Amino acid sequence: MKDIFCKIIDGDIPSTRVYEDDDVLAILDISQTTRGHTLVMPKKHYESLLDCPKETLTKVMLIAQRIGQAEVSILGAKGVNILANCGEAAGQTVMHFHVHVIPRYIGGEGGFRLEMASQDTSKMNLPVLAKEIGDAMK
Ligand SMILES: [Zn+2]
Repeated sequence: MKDIFCKIIDGDIPSTRVYEDDDVLAILDISQTTRGHTLVMPKKHYESLLDCPKETLTKVMLIAQRIGQAEVSILGAKGVNILANCGEAAGQTVMHFHVHVIPRYIGGEGGFRLEMASQDTSKMNLPVLAKEIGDAMK
């Protein structure tokens, strides 16, 4: 069964298209967390950023960058959050890779909050942790 983004890509469900080429589609997020909130996705189905081939990932991220630049230049945004949720535990709700481009405005209007709280690292061995992650990349 097709997910909602595959249906949008195939034209089965209407969307408000910001950008489209052979490989990438960008649409306005229906929630508009902030004004201009855009979703950028590959037209080919991948579940998340983690399983997306690098050539496609590069295309998606370059479009996300251009949309962020455009939003800063014409919407009065003072910053942009560009993020991808990978997996349900990370808040991904549609299992078709997509990147959120969320313009940010002075005064914080809109419903987006991002909080990265610190935790006690005294019982973590950070050099060992760093080595484990680095080794797993090889
Ligand atoms: Zn899909």
